[in-house]
Amino acid sequence: MISKIIAEDLINKVYSSLQDAEKIAIVVHVGPDGDAMGAALGLWHYLMTIEKEPTVISPTPYPNFLSWMPGANEVLIYENDKEKADNILASAELIFTLDFNSLHRLEEMAEAVSNSPAPKILVDHHLHPESFAKITISYPEISSTSEMIFRLICRMGDFANINLACAECIYTGMMTDTGSFTYNSNDPEIYIIISELIKIGIDKDEIYRKVFNTYSESRLRLMGFCLYEKMQTFPEFRTAIISLTQEDLSRFNYVNGDAEGFVNIPLSVKGIDFSVFLREEKNRIKISLRSQGKFPANKVASDLFGGGGHLNAAGAESYTSMQETINTLLNALPDYQVFFEE
Ligand code: 5GP
Ligand code: MN
Repeated sequence: MISKIIAEDLINKVYSSLQDAEKIAIVVHVGPDGDAMGAALGLWHYLMTIEKEPTVISPTPYPNFLSWMPGANEVLIYENDKEKADNILASAELIFTLDFNSLHRLEEMAEAVSNSPAPKILVDHHLHPESFAKITISYPEISSTSEMIFRLICRMGDFANINLACAECIYTGMMTDTGSFTYNSNDPEIYIIISELIKIGIDKDEIYRKVFNTYSESRLRLMGFCLYEKMQTFPEFRTAIISLTQEDLSRFNYVNGDAEGFVNIPLSVKGIDFSVFLREEKNRIKISLRSQGKFPANKVASDLFGGGGHLNAAGAESYTSMQETINTLLNALPDYQVFFEE
């Protein structure tokens, strides 16, 4: 038996919102990850079983390693098709916002979502959701938004509508947001849910292979370059930093998603419990932070760069140079050592 984490009144509100809406948009954050895509497509497949007309819209393309996901090719990419997406958002009767807590994570698409008269339903597991939604379903203790979608569907009495495609999407999000069940994954109910998804027919081993074993050769070489030449370790601060400039990226024919997961690798070094990965984009530096134990990656992200996320997995952006960004980090590291001692 799975416990009823999501409050009953929220379930009822979603259920009645669905009764009155046909045209439904499902939106995810910029650069959607496995969980954003899993939650969105899981919900999309479910909504079609109850005869709705949902459209998933992502501000920017999803990474190649998620293109196998059932329904991925139906996802509308805002930056490629603004006019169509703007029309869908403007005429939507209901908008689900999944896997993000702040409209600014939609970047260029934020205005269209914010201006749409459709009521919004936020389903997310990041701390401190903004109050843009009519219904806010926020449970940071749940390790993936995809799991929340599973729970939501079941609580509306529709477990039987979770078809194979829906189950595959939900599992993908649960797997990717827990590092294949290696962090944020001690809740026993995760495994009850996986057991249900397997009974529906998912092949979890195959999903793992499709997500993690389909990379390009140039990604692997970029990984080697990162680890051999670009990783700096600061053992006194239990910290590793990897930085990639635009020049580094073009040398390895970087495509969207190629550096996914690199930030986790330094944590496999004994004594390294905090890892920061910096990637230079056109006009900013994208920062990924990961930690082990009680070290608050999200606090570092928000204190130094105005970012956020979870205790062990956070992100931010910097608008200074790569070197200045690294200096900001290095200068601040001594202040955070107290968290390693807790
Ligand atoms: P990633 O490093 O995989 O991009 O992100 C890790 C986590 O940090 C995600 O769960 C995401 O919600 C959060 N995150 C990533 N980038 C940002 C950002 O720019 N701002 C905030 N507030 N959170 C972010
Ligand atoms: Mn997530």
